[in-house]
Amino acid sequence: MVYDVIVVGAGPAGSAAAGECAKSGLSTLCIEEHGTIGYPVQCAGLLSNAAFAECRVSERSVLNRVQGARVVSGRGSELLIDAQTTRASVVDRGALDREMAEAAANAGAEFKLKTAVYDIRGKTIITRGMNGNEEHQFRILIAADGPRSTITRLLGMERAKVYLAGIQADLPYDCDPRFVELYPDASPEFFGWAIPTGKGRVRAGLCGQTQVPERFAAFVKKFGGGSGTHLVTGTLPLGVMPQTYGHRTLFVGDAGGFPKPTSGGGVYTGIRSARHAAAVAAVCCEQDTFTDPALADYERRWKTDIGRELEIGFRFFEMRQKLSSQDIDQLIRSLNDPGILSTIVRYGDMDRPGVLVKKLMRNPAMLRCMGPLIRTGLRSLFG
Ligand SMILES: Cc1cc2nc3c(=O)[nH]c(=O)nc-3n(C[C@H](O)[C@H](O)[C@H](O)COP(=O)(O)OP(=O)(O)OC[C@H]3O[C@@H](n4cnc5c(N)ncnc54)[C@H](O)[C@@H]3O)c2cc1C
Repeated sequence: MVYDVIVVGAGPAGSAAAGECAKSGLSTLCIEEHGTIGYPVQCAGLLSNAAFAECRVSERSVLNRVQGARVVSGRGSELLIDAQTTRASVVDRGALDREMAEAAANAGAEFKLKTAVYDIRGKTIITRGMNGNEEHQFRILIAADGPRSTITRLLGMERAKVYLAGIQADLPYDCDPRFVELYPDASPEFFGWAIPTGKGRVRAGLCGQTQVPERFAAFVKKFGGGSGTHLVTGTLPLGVMPQTYGHRTLFVGDAGGFPKPTSGGGVYTGIRSARHAAAVAAVCCEQDTFTDPALADYERRWKTDIGRELEIGFRFFEMRQKLSSQDIDQLIRSLNDPGILSTIVRYGDMDRPGVLVKKLMRNPAMLRCMGPLIRTGLRSLFG
């Protein structure tokens, strides 16, 4: 049998793509190398309201809801952003991924588990799994195989710009369950976090490029030294690959480098990219055209939707590399202004931070923050 679409990977992006393709009436096969969807977990499970809505699942996976964040500098200053209403959910990613896959299967997508793709020859993928080696044919392929994408490598595509390593542990620790805590000094290339999963428990972790295990060991000491019951290690690709289509294939989610460079959140952008890919797959199948110019419509669609935010986010990521611990402390102190805080609460959007940045730039109180920001290239941000 020749499938209209083969999706490789059953993470949120893969299941979203498979479900949408099946709903469009395309014969769809989703191949996942693990026997259980959603494991191992490589995520902190923090989803903005918009990201959670994008998953189109029940509330079953929700462990906690948060209404803001406390940003803590290593030099003593703190900033509390309190929206006083739910802004994000903390989810069990294993449960969320499974529910998304179930929805795709209910829509008609076929799932093949414990089966890994290890080669592609033309319109055929070669898999290794429970039934030994198999071949499956496709008209169009959607690569949703995560940050270490085998498909990207097999097809010789240029990859995401930057790869961060992440480590996180679930720990017993009493913190205010309403707020996520962010620790910019925990990692000079990104930041550390403590996400309350409920009363008396946090997920504490960080992402970075250098000395990640050492920095993580030092960071978790803040949380009382209790024993971790769930350890996560993972890779975070930032900076979308230069071309997200080619060789009859569309690259979505982490396989394409879609996580937000400001927060590392990849579920929202991954699913958005997957829905655009599924829409383009349907058109290509209907017109029986799989040339690069036909596939390029995918890139046009996701760029119109989330391209600008990802681009601005990557410039922020580059600026962050130039901020010292002292700069961050100064920034936190300067942002601690009632006018600025109310702008952050009103316009802050984890998935689309560009709107907030524009609003802040118009706030005269921001002049106090300008020193460190101008040095790191803020002026070029919207250039
Ligand atoms: C430490 C850490 C914390 C994070 N925290 C958050 C967070 O709080 N919020 C958020 O939104 N994002 C977070 N992210 C990012 C988020 O986890 C990813 O962006 C998201 O999982 C991407 O979804 P995906 O479907 O593209 O890929 P994945 O979820 O990685 O799924 C890819 C799937 O493909 C399968 N696969 C891989 N290779 C093959 C193959 N050859 N054959 C068959 N199957 C294959 C894998 O088994 C996997 O199931 C975090 C990442 C890290 C590393």
